[in-house]
Amino acid sequence: MGIIEKMRLDGKAIYVTGGASGIGKAASYGFAEAGADVAIVDINLEGARKVAEEIAQATGSKTIAIQADVTNPEEVEAMVAKVVETYGKLDACYNNAGIAVNAPAEEMTFEQWKKVIDINLTGVYLCSTAAGRQMLKQGYGSIINTASMSGHIVNVPQPQCAYNASKAGVIMLTKSLAIEWAKRGVRVNCISPGYIGTELIMQAENLKPLIEVWNGMAPMGRLGKPEELQSVLVYLAGDSSTFTTGSDIVVDGAFTCF
Ligand code: NAD
Repeated sequence: MGIIEKMRLDGKAIYVTGGASGIGKAASYGFAEAGADVAIVDINLEGARKVAEEIAQATGSKTIAIQADVTNPEEVEAMVAKVVETYGKLDACYNNAGIAVNAPAEEMTFEQWKKVIDINLTGVYLCSTAAGRQMLKQGYGSIINTASMSGHIVNVPQPQCAYNASKAGVIMLTKSLAIEWAKRGVRVNCISPGYIGTELIMQAENLKPLIEVWNGMAPMGRLGKPEELQSVLVYLAGDSSTFTTGSDIVVDGAFTCF
């Protein structure tokens, strides 16, 4: 099989959490355009349905929409079961749902701290292990998690200690699972995006001054686009990355290089 053929995802079943919006939506499009059937998972069912319909129409992917809160173990188990019931297997998954809370550490409430850690880190743990149990049974599978450049550096000026800690946790969780499952056919990787100008971010009036600051700090003078993450995600999900596990691929336009 040639390299381009190996990079395609024809016949593969993949779920994406946080698929109703932003990076998850672009990732879902990318997987579907590469040939995969994609389950769009989100706490926002209406949003997930809309994206699933759009993608099915645009690409012919056999999409489904699933409502699940990634912090709820029962809902996560049911989500994986639904994907397997629909497609007969789970080839890859992209555990991407996440939130950010900007607040000075001394003012952040315990509830704010817990919510960020619950969704960004515990959610990735619950999804990775639920998907992992299915993949270990199958003897193959590729798990991809969303970390962030904030798992590597404290990006300023916005204070977000819970977010940074959660993303550093995702990187080490990814590496730990990769080691545990390396001999059993299940690969686990994460990506660490830099600032990505999703629709939500670009349209938020209150973020405009911050975007100017980020553009000024960015070596390329701009934010990334969600579509600019697609190729690395398709690579990690497919059969051209069979020796890539435990990797954290930074896609940040060199933001963390200095
Ligand atoms: P977004 O807000 O556009 O999308 C997040 C999605 O996750 C939404 O559809 C939301 O409904 C869903 N979600 C939230 N809580 C959930 C829960 N408990 N269960 C299930 N779904 C839930 O955000 P985005 O910018 O696309 O970010 C996606 C991921 O990428 C996040 O993990 C984020 O931390 C990470 N990231 C974003 C950037 C960036 O600059 N945009 C940079 C680095 C990393």
